[in-house]
Amino acid sequence: MKNNVPVEFNGVIDEFAAENSYRAQNILAEWYPRHYRRTTFEYRRAASETGRASGVGCFFSGGVDSFYSAITQHDRITHLIFVHGFDIRPDDENLGNRALEGARAAASDLGKPLIEVRTTLRSVFSDAHRVPWGHVYHGAALAHVATALSPHLGTVIVPSSYPLEQLKPWGSHPDLDPAWSSSTVSIEHGELDAGRFDKIARIVDSPTAMTHLRVCWENRDGRYNCERCFKCFRTRLGIMFAGGECVTLSSPIDPTTVRRMYIEPTRRQRFREALAELNERGFDEPELEKAMRSAIRRSYLLQYFPR
Ligand SMILES: [Zn+2]
Repeated sequence: MKNNVPVEFNGVIDEFAAENSYRAQNILAEWYPRHYRRTTFEYRRAASETGRASGVGCFFSGGVDSFYSAITQHDRITHLIFVHGFDIRPDDENLGNRALEGARAAASDLGKPLIEVRTTLRSVFSDAHRVPWGHVYHGAALAHVATALSPHLGTVIVPSSYPLEQLKPWGSHPDLDPAWSSSTVSIEHGELDAGRFDKIARIVDSPTAMTHLRVCWENRDGRYNCERCFKCFRTRLGIMFAGGECVTLSSPIDPTTVRRMYIEPTRRQRFREALAELNERGFDEPELEKAMRSAIRRSYLLQYFPR
């Protein structure tokens, strides 16, 4: 679609998947008309298989969305799936092993077998061909892993990134994810009824989540969560607000440290939104709030006057 060329497959393709992929193309072409065009492809049809495996998988990176789906859909999930090669670069063995250890321990606590996947899908396709991972590719990549596991899993859940009211074009989306389904695996997009802080409020009750939660992939100073980036900070705020205690994210939050945070331009709006949302929910931490506002101002200054 990016290069606007028709594709010819040598092999057979599941009829259901082939038809569905036109749906996926329509969605992407509508979202990004200047960058992705509908294309045609030739293939030999394989009869759609009947019957799906009974397993229900759920992608599990160990973050807030993963834990929320794993906990709220615990009864139907039979397997959790950890992928090395998406958030973690395939060659980053150190980070990969640490994240994997956390995911293994969490899965074992939750009583689910963990399927461990290694792949170069992101580096070889998304990165090498400059197909944006976040906006376009990651949902398709997750679906690819789900398809590879379809002899065991007939349904695979992709934990949601955004609640219904915040939906926007994004590589994993409730319209797009199911469009990667085939006759052997149905891809489901996770819960749409809970925003970030609702999810955090739910998972603070889980000792497993509060022991193994991992929200950060920056791996600054080799730390499990760096505690300084926006994702770490927002999660710490949510946990503090929900009255939780997390082993992997320290509390309380020190306003002096917050004041010194540099917030990247792309994150500032989200930082403000997080603050507004907490205010609406009755967040009452004047010192911290002052520190957050001052961090935003300071980040503007630093951007234009780095010295
Ligand atoms: Zn971080």
